[in-house]
Amino acid sequence: MNIILFGAPGVGKGTQAAILAERLGVPHISTGAIFRAAVAAGKELGLQVKRYMDDGLLVPDELTTQIALEALDEPACANGFILDGYPRNADQAQALTDALTAKGSAIDKVVYLTAPVDELIERMLKRGRPDDTADVIRTRFEVYQRETSPVLDYFRAVDHVTEVNGVGEIEDVQTRILAALNGTAVDQK
Ligand code: AMP
Repeated sequence: MNIILFGAPGVGKGTQAAILAERLGVPHISTGAIFRAAVAAGKELGLQVKRYMDDGLLVPDELTTQIALEALDEPACANGFILDGYPRNADQAQALTDALTAKGSAIDKVVYLTAPVDELIERMLKRGRPDDTADVIRTRFEVYQRETSPVLDYFRAVDHVTEVNGVGEIEDVQTRILAALNGTAVDQK
């Protein structure tokens, strides 16, 4: 199954995507994680993306889409994948759809994880990543509202968006995600 984990910064996409990928035996592809690894390794890609990440801005589409599509082209993704943090704007959503269509593939489910903004900010401040300072968090939420949240409407129109309450214990949220993917109702509290 080709799945996108979608949601605001700090909602737990990375944590949930990693568990889900392990459980389903498919790759977890996080553009943010690829970028962070490139920065840590001092790679050319890292040098190109660091200033955007430090400021909480989107890395330019050309670069991001190239990185995401390269990852999706790996043979390991042939049986499915969990995408986390991509696409993040309308152009990326279109590029992804086009690339999958060209391969005779498609996104099967978009899991939209939700949580109150106050809780998200609290979680991010605790997480303590270099881009988790109050100022940068504010910018990332603005970018999310302006550029990323409209992507949901794009997928609502063409795909199956399923909303999942992201508040609670990691395992409880995972159980809700699995239920949503299986199309069974589950207590969202
Ligand atoms: P994340 O780990 O998903 O929170 O991403 C961390 C940072 O990496 C973001 O704030 C962006 O600077 C960059 N990034 C990750 N994914 C994307 C994307 N799809 N488009 C543009 N920038 C991205």
